[in-house]
Amino acid sequence: MKRGACVEAAEVERRINVPQSYRLVRRDARAERTVVRLPNGATFGGDEIALCAGPCGVESAEQLERTARAIAGSGANVLRGGAYKPRTSPYSFQGLGEEALRLLRDCADRYGLGVVTEVVDPRGVEQVASYADMLQIGARNMQNFALLREAGAARKPILLKRGLSATVQEWLLAAEYVLLAGNEDVVLCERGVRSFDAATRNVLDIGVVPLLEELTHLPVIVDPSHAIGIARLVPALAVASVAAGAHGLLVEVHPEPSRALSDGAQSLDFDQFDALVRRLGPVAALSGRRLPSRLKIGEREETGFGGAVQQQRR
Ligand code: PEP
Ligand code: MN
Repeated sequence: MKRGACVEAAEVERRINVPQSYRLVRRDARAERTVVRLPNGATFGGDEIALCAGPCGVESAEQLERTARAIAGSGANVLRGGAYKPRTSPYSFQGLGEEALRLLRDCADRYGLGVVTEVVDPRGVEQVASYADMLQIGARNMQNFALLREAGAARKPILLKRGLSATVQEWLLAAEYVLLAGNEDVVLCERGVRSFDAATRNVLDIGVVPLLEELTHLPVIVDPSHAIGIARLVPALAVASVAAGAHGLLVEVHPEPSRALSDGAQSLDFDQFDALVRRLGPVAALSGRRLPSRLKIGEREETGFGGAVQQQRR
């Protein structure tokens, strides 16, 4: 970092009162920014943005298979989907558990995608890590310190969502727990915060994208779906996030959003997701980034990714 930028970052830190205990995640703790890489080649923090997409919850083999094929065809490189859902009501769909993990791994492998899925319990880390490429710690668990420590001991990258009403400082200190426990592969995910206004589900704090770029070496992505809660408005936030410098997106996509068992109102259908990805290319270029270089269906034969991608062409 240039000296001027260091002085500015120190100024921001004073303003938001970053304590000295915040050692490992701070920008100047490393010479280079952290780049998190998944086995399929998806990267968070480099020149390429990561496009993570999929249903809120894994509901069936057919739902996930169709979604994985569609998002891969549109250019996404990571499949998301909840196997264990942290629901406000204990009567709501809780997820299919290990069966969903199997489906995620299977569908992702067929289409050359990485897998990110949520872990809600420290006792579940080992199981989720045995299927997923990246473990999501959800907003409701951002300060579940036992889970953060366990995630720190895991050998898989962590996607740490911002808590429902968490300050930037609380969020960075939550990430600090994971790094301190030995896991340096942490990606932060802004997903909107609670506000006085219920017009949108949450309020996307777009300002944290450039702010975190100053404060930490960790990559930052944005989840526009949970931020706004209204499918037709998701693309605008997605575009704004990438323009602001986000290193990736986490977008909810469902074959039939009106029939989704969770978060249907904010889920894009396949056409909406495809249209969004087409808009993102030039926007990513504005901040010197590009879309995932994963090969798209119909582009080239010599893809090293899943056979099903090639079969699609025939
Ligand atoms: C999700 O990604 O489906 C989810 C539950 O997100 P959050 O933890 O941000 O509410
Ligand atoms: Mn959801």
